[in-house]
Amino acid sequence: MPLESSADASTAQGWSSLGGDAHRLHRALTEGKVPQAMLLVGEPKVTRFASTWVANYLLCTGGEDEPCGRCEGCLQFRAGSHPNFHEVPLDGNAVKTRDIENLQGFLQMRSHGRGPLVYIVPSLDLATPVAANRLLKTLEDPISNMVAILTAHNARQVLPTILSRSQIYRLQSGEPYSASGADNVDGIHNEEIESGAESDEFAALSVRVIQWAQTLLNLAAPPLVLANQFDKFETLPSGEGPLDILIAWLTDLLHYGVEEESHLRFRSFHESLEQQSKLTSCEQLAKLIQIALATKVRKGSHVVGLLNAEQMCIRMRRVQSGLHSGGSPFQAGG
Ligand SMILES: [Zn+2]
Repeated sequence: MPLESSADASTAQGWSSLGGDAHRLHRALTEGKVPQAMLLVGEPKVTRFASTWVANYLLCTGGEDEPCGRCEGCLQFRAGSHPNFHEVPLDGNAVKTRDIENLQGFLQMRSHGRGPLVYIVPSLDLATPVAANRLLKTLEDPISNMVAILTAHNARQVLPTILSRSQIYRLQSGEPYSASGADNVDGIHNEEIESGAESDEFAALSVRVIQWAQTLLNLAAPPLVLANQFDKFETLPSGEGPLDILIAWLTDLLHYGVEEESHLRFRSFHESLEQQSKLTSCEQLAKLIQIALATKVRKGSHVVGLLNAEQMCIRMRRVQSGLHSGGSPFQAGG
């Protein structure tokens, strides 16, 4: 069935039209393994339906596989008057700081009540940076019976610190996107449809690689430990692996360092860009990128993964700690 409106939220029929991770999410709900924060990634129309459905499910006291539509919880929810539910409005196009403050007020007020507290924050990828950071504070310090349902169309534009605190579910409509419906014309969504199913996996792997780079750049772990970690990162189904992400990240750092911010691939990782660009110089970054590229070439020639990663990390460490032959501003006198 097509997703028509949130009135569909009480029918399982609507849910069963969802693809992607919908089944996995449904199982988590019915098995009572509800994450404290979930990020539903997909077309706004789809995530709007799904977030409403999940909120209704969590507040229903009578249903098993789906909201029953008859209990007090369902009736209050449908009337828009459930005391334990708050939906951040999409005022204009972006969630704003004021909206998150209102949400925090609601959570504070209701935190001692009974039953789960459920809230929805839509289109987190379009939230203002200040609003996103406010929300992060709320996620970092959750109330025990609180469930955050966040949605985004493009997971890459969500703060990495929010991604790492959320269970990510990618959802699709069962209806083909190429249908003639005017809804699909909406220009801002095309990139995401084309980049396909892997954007959330890409984002999750990026978070790990970028955290790893931080450890590399601030010399916080020995090269062999770093190599071990790096070797465990998985390659995405698209064929894009941790090395590709590392190269793209180092390139972004280099661009960030010379204030060419318009072409950054990881624009949303502002905090990490800022922090890590301070840990290294443009000259060093250029060398690190060369090492990563050479590692990628060797990877193609069947060098054992861990050995290759070890070699890369040892060489990178030399560059970063200024022990390479070229000399470095970090070289100490003795
Ligand atoms: Zn119910």
